[in-house]
Amino acid sequence: MLLRRALSSLSIRRFDVVVVGGGPVGCEAARLSATLGHKVAVVEATRDGALLAAPTGWVSKALRFASRELGTASGDRRVPWRDVGAYVENTAGRALGKTAAAFAPLVNEDHVEAFAGPATFVGTNKIAVGDATLEAATVFLATGSTGTRVPSLPWDDPAAAEWLYDSDTIMGVGRLPEHVLIQGGGVIGVEYAFILRHLGARVTLVLREPSLLDGKAVDDDIRSAIAGRLEACGVTVRYEDGDVVSAEPPRTPRGPGRVVLGSGEAVACDVVLSAVGRSGATASLDLAAGGLRATPQGPRRRRRRAMRAASGARVWAAGDCAGRNAVSPPGLLSTGLAQCHVAVRDAFPEEWGPTKDDKMDADDGKDDGEDRERIQKVIEVDKDDAAFVLGRGGSTKRKIARVAGAEIELDEHALTITISGFKDQCLHAIDYIDFIRSSAWAP
Ligand SMILES: Cc1cc2nc3c(=O)[nH]c(=O)nc-3n(C[C@H](O)[C@H](O)[C@H](O)COP(=O)(O)OP(=O)(O)OC[C@H]3O[C@@H](n4cnc5c(N)ncnc54)[C@H](O)[C@@H]3O)c2cc1C
Repeated sequence: MLLRRALSSLSIRRFDVVVVGGGPVGCEAARLSATLGHKVAVVEATRDGALLAAPTGWVSKALRFASRELGTASGDRRVPWRDVGAYVENTAGRALGKTAAAFAPLVNEDHVEAFAGPATFVGTNKIAVGDATLEAATVFLATGSTGTRVPSLPWDDPAAAEWLYDSDTIMGVGRLPEHVLIQGGGVIGVEYAFILRHLGARVTLVLREPSLLDGKAVDDDIRSAIAGRLEACGVTVRYEDGDVVSAEPPRTPRGPGRVVLGSGEAVACDVVLSAVGRSGATASLDLAAGGLRATPQGPRRRRRRAMRAASGARVWAAGDCAGRNAVSPPGLLSTGLAQCHVAVRDAFPEEWGPTKDDKMDADDGKDDGEDRERIQKVIEVDKDDAAFVLGRGGSTKRKIARVAGAEIELDEHALTITISGFKDQCLHAIDYIDFIRSSAWAP
């Protein structure tokens, strides 16, 4: 056994592309690379290596739907957690099924191989996973993000194990709290405040800022409408009081603990969710061994447009681990997918073919319609897909158009999307739209 291990650790598996992270952005990088004819390895640390096209935050979406369907608007009835758990399980099955269906042809044709375990760099473009070492000319990093942990909370205290959660661990809370204190008035804190209140928990939301969703590019009237809805359903919101001065975990498992806020107010609660931001999950990658360097926002980029990670190495970062860059806002699935398309296009410009921008650069602004025919495609969508493709304020639609280089019109009444451009641009846009539709995992 030891000899076999030693021998296998010496063997290097060579691929054209290694993708680190089997979340939605890694899956898309793998699918695009395989479709361009490359042999791809994907490494995923969790889910026994299973790939997942639904985003890390999909559990909160399933919980949101569960709270709408099983809970009440006023939160005056406690929903048994086994019903919530069954709902989430069912949704998980669907999300994994969709991923499996998207990947089956590529896996069967030997284009994509999945590896289970945490990946770490052991050299330039060399990655260790378990006993294997993978090597590829091109590497995509799509390791996502993790919840930020404020030092004033007792994360390492065993007594806090079933009391204190961050925006990742809350997905496994496994029970409906009696009274939950949520720290953070961003999208995740507000979303969980609604979910847990509608399911019947008492909820106190505390935030540093004077208003909800501060700095999240949300209009004032939307922010005040959300504040009104939180109040109407019975959530207590404490503005400008989001700092925890001290925290006492429960003395008995799942009993009440106590949090003292900056104002001096003490809050007794049986669950604390601290949702105060997220940062790129690169700590375990040993970027230095791969010749890379992490910035506070994610792996270092050499070129703004390409999101290239380091000189010398062909490494690109996309999705939540890439942090702020040319394609924004960060922390959204549609942004990660757009970054991924830009990164794959940059890594394989010849296979990808010229984009509208490239063509215009090459022709110095001359009309390039002579040798390539412009086409128009119309696809039908249902109402949910239309909303998903449009995105907040039309942002997803704009991203698809920018990345594919096509023009996109969405008719929300006729439920059609009209795509205009050169054939490759239209096909790219349709491909991207299909992927976004297949990521609409809600039941
Ligand atoms: C609670 C919550 C709610 C959200 N709600 C929304 C929403 O409503 N709409 C929206 O657009 N976005 C939402 N998001 C954001 C969305 O989940 C992310 O933008 C999206 O998941 C990013 O995809 P990704 O592939 O970059 O990262 P992830 O989905 O995080 O996937 C990264 C994968 O990499 C794996 N990994 C990490 N390190 C390693 C390693 N060293 N080796 C191997 N594998 C590794 C991880 O296990 C993970 O499976 C939400 C996020 C959270 C946390």
